[in-house]
Amino acid sequence: MMAAKTSIDEFKNLLNSSNRILALCGAGLSAASGLPTFRGAGGLWRNYDPTSLATPKAFQRDPVLVWFFYAWRRHLALKAKPNRGHYALAELAKKKDNFLCLTQNVDGLSPRAGHPESKLRLLHGSLLDNKCFNECGYIDRNNLSDPVCPALAPAAEDYPSHQTLPLLDPNVPVPSVKTEDIPHCPNCKTGLLRPGVVWFTESLDGEMLSEVNDWVDQERIDIMLVVGTAASVYPAAGYTFKARDKGAIVVVVNPDADSSRGLTPRDFFFQGDASEILPQLFEGVIGKMDEYGNIL
Ligand code: NAD
Ligand code: ZN
Repeated sequence: MMAAKTSIDEFKNLLNSSNRILALCGAGLSAASGLPTFRGAGGLWRNYDPTSLATPKAFQRDPVLVWFFYAWRRHLALKAKPNRGHYALAELAKKKDNFLCLTQNVDGLSPRAGHPESKLRLLHGSLLDNKCFNECGYIDRNNLSDPVCPALAPAAEDYPSHQTLPLLDPNVPVPSVKTEDIPHCPNCKTGLLRPGVVWFTESLDGEMLSEVNDWVDQERIDIMLVVGTAASVYPAAGYTFKARDKGAIVVVVNPDADSSRGLTPRDFFFQGDASEILPQLFEGVIGKMDEYGNIL
């Protein structure tokens, strides 16, 4: 099979003449901000597979353990800064009227990079939202408290980089915290609050999905950008196929050569770090960007 295109100049021409653009982003977009991907090296949290903690069953069984995992991820996300990849996408969204960006990331970095809300869909929710586990409908959005509550402070301690946070050491027991001391729903008063992310076995927000599907179905799509995602989690991964059906040229940005699988000679593959590649790819539309993500 013939390989996808790799010419930045050729892509720049395509972008200039393109109108409707869809993007699907994943954990790799935030890798340069220092946030680990699930499938990346290492992969374990204490001695747990992170995906085994990201389920309603795990929360039911041990809400304190699951909250510690999320309190730690919230702390990392709040400490991290958006990178040039987030800024480049945010700028492109300001310049192209018909650009919709779907992100699987829950770290809040795209909103913090100034990505216009109307052009961004958080497919998997946000680490910074807390919602009622009893589904009474209560949701506390964009909660920036760190730690999320006093009992979970051991997840929000800063340690020098050569030392391990005790919470991350599987030989140190998880601090003993009572269920009463983790966040409770102020609305129904009976439910626990849980992170506002989509867990394995849960469905994505139906209203958001139908809105995205309407956007996709409307008209021809010129470009489908696939940034930093293994595109293995559905329904998110399905958007590449949908966009292709609507005529899109698929453009993959990922350091992993395997992620170019399935691309055709009309598509593009840029192998590398999204924070380096995206500002180059979009330069003709957004202008030159400095190392901090400011447009010069
Ligand atoms: P993934 O961990 O399955 O895949 C990450 C992809 O990013 C891989 O293909 C990898 O090759 C690529 N990558 C690594 N470094 C990169 C870089 N510098 N630039 C570009 N690409 C890079 O993640 P996923 O596909 O997003 O899906 C897994 C699930 O995990 C999602 O549901 C997501 O919500 C969740 N998750 C989110 C975060 C976050 O919000 N930051 C972090 C970890 C996992
Ligand atoms: Zn409630």
